[in-house]
Amino acid sequence: MTGRIIDTHEANPLLTSGGLVVGIDVGGTKIMGGLSDSSGRILRHTTLPTEAQQGAEVVLERIERVAREVMSGVDPGRIIGVGIGAPGPIDPFSGTLYSPPNLPGMDGVPMREIMRQRLGLPIYLANDANAAAVGEYLFGIHEQVRNMIYITVSTGVGGGIIIDGKLFIGAHGMGGEVGHMTIEAEGPRCNCGNTGCLEVLASGTAIARYGAALVSEGRAPILSELAEQRASAVTARLVQEAAERGERESQLIIARAGFYMGVGIVNLIHLFNTQLIVIGGGVSHLGALLFDPIRQTVAARAMPAIRNAVEIVPAHLGDQVGLLGAIAIVLHEQANAASELRPA
Ligand SMILES: [Zn+2]
Repeated sequence: MTGRIIDTHEANPLLTSGGLVVGIDVGGTKIMGGLSDSSGRILRHTTLPTEAQQGAEVVLERIERVAREVMSGVDPGRIIGVGIGAPGPIDPFSGTLYSPPNLPGMDGVPMREIMRQRLGLPIYLANDANAAAVGEYLFGIHEQVRNMIYITVSTGVGGGIIIDGKLFIGAHGMGGEVGHMTIEAEGPRCNCGNTGCLEVLASGTAIARYGAALVSEGRAPILSELAEQRASAVTARLVQEAAERGERESQLIIARAGFYMGVGIVNLIHLFNTQLIVIGGGVSHLGALLFDPIRQTVAARAMPAIRNAVEIVPAHLGDQVGLLGAIAIVLHEQANAASELRPA
């Protein structure tokens, strides 16, 4: 599987008779759609703004428009399915969205059934972090593994767990919420209502929060200067810049996030003994500043047999992970016909 933009010198699959896949990545600000062949090569893609604040009907209409645009002129009989990755929570069994924070007005919307009726094609729906996990599994990693955990770290922390070559979603489709593992039982309050979740300790938002505290306390002159002395202007990106300029306090903030991420990974590998942990999302661009403390924490805390069996690597797919993930869930479900994200 390749998962990449097609090279114009290759035979154009649109002119042959193989199966094609539509993937749609529904984000809070934009909807990206693509048409790929059955190996994940993207043949066409297009993007529209989501206009989430205009409500469910506008968003649904835009998803439909993106799908029709990438399929235009193609025999519908060649489309294997349409994969949609959307912000969670999602009930993958009923194909319904539940109060997605980035899509106000979509609570309770039976997205899969609506899109099936409008497009007349099999629809596969997954939350975006699960879709990204499957995308990395099919198209990103080079290793031949059957057990892998993907963790995406940006404003929040999400993920997906691949066990024996299949996405694990649990009894009600809500499993794999790696961001809401409890790491510090009496730690800060998380958006989910619990305290001390991985997300509240190691996300980009957490790094910005730690940085803002440093600026307020006057302990990080470089970060303060980058944020123009305003604690509220501190972002994870600015903390990274200050750390790269050699500011020790800013480096320690990222090391602390890495430590907590490492603790979370220690939990995950003891539970699942995966061969691979793949870390994606904007915060993964912190590179060694983040990965070194993660690996040191895992080396210090995990059982030797388990830690020696796992590799911790950055994600490969970059900005295309959402679209490739949406495509991947169709191919993944085709390959695992007994699985549970099957179309209505
Ligand atoms: Zn939480």
